[in-house]
Amino acid sequence: MIDVKHLSKSFGSHLVLDDISEHISPGEKVVVIGPSGSGKSTFLRCLNLLETPSAGTITFGGTEITDPKTEIDKVRRQMGMVFQHFNLFPNMTIRRNITLAPVRTGLMKQGEADAEAVKLLERVGLADRADSYPAQLSGGQKQRIAIVRALAMKPKLMLFDEPTSALDPEMVGEVLEVMKELAREGMTMVVVTHEMGFAREVGTRVLFMDGGKILEQNEPQAFFANPREERTKEFLSKVL
Ligand code: ADP
Ligand code: MG
Repeated sequence: MIDVKHLSKSFGSHLVLDDISEHISPGEKVVVIGPSGSGKSTFLRCLNLLETPSAGTITFGGTEITDPKTEIDKVRRQMGMVFQHFNLFPNMTIRRNITLAPVRTGLMKQGEADAEAVKLLERVGLADRADSYPAQLSGGQKQRIAIVRALAMKPKLMLFDEPTSALDPEMVGEVLEVMKELAREGMTMVVVTHEMGFAREVGTRVLFMDGGKILEQNEPQAFFANPREERTKEFLSKVL
């Protein structure tokens, strides 16, 4: 589904991603972990070109998205993204937050999008909040809305950047539960997280990033039982 070849990214003279090559197959749930500043967010943001790579190519479903001739907006619609800080539109109701993109892009008519929003809200237990504004919701509720807002575009891939890091501890579970359900339904997911339980339970693969490289990767059980690199062991000793 995604093929990354020799991806590098610099901000000025600071090399943040250093020659990353990686392949993500349909249905995979790739969990990205690593210390702060190792390049996890930049890597994720390069996958949908929210950051422009300095070098290398990224192919998504057969389309080379790093080719300047590619209409990136069309491709990006097929990739849902969920951020740490929700990024809901504060001046719009929850219903409008969910229906805006599918209607604007012509994916759905307003009536159809409204019906879809009801279904999505039911799915995350928030059917009664359609007419609320984001500020009236808890962090966990906002993040569940952010997830279904992304799903309203019927993406082929979901990218999550520390979706539970800004939440009070008691709200982490409800968001992870929605993500687990999505995983069970077969969604292809790339998830940056510090939730090692989620990585173990849901991940098909764990990537450990350090200094702009994917230093080590494995399927979760082997990754956590037998980390090979010293840096990985040191990191895991701090977070487990
Ligand atoms: P992580 O998500 O692993 O914490 P990031 O990808 O956010 O790491 O950042 C990696 C490095 O790139 C950090 O040193 C950060 O300061 C730098 N960086 C990230 N975004 C920018 C930017 N827009 N401009 C300059 N430096 C940036
Ligand atoms: Mg980050």
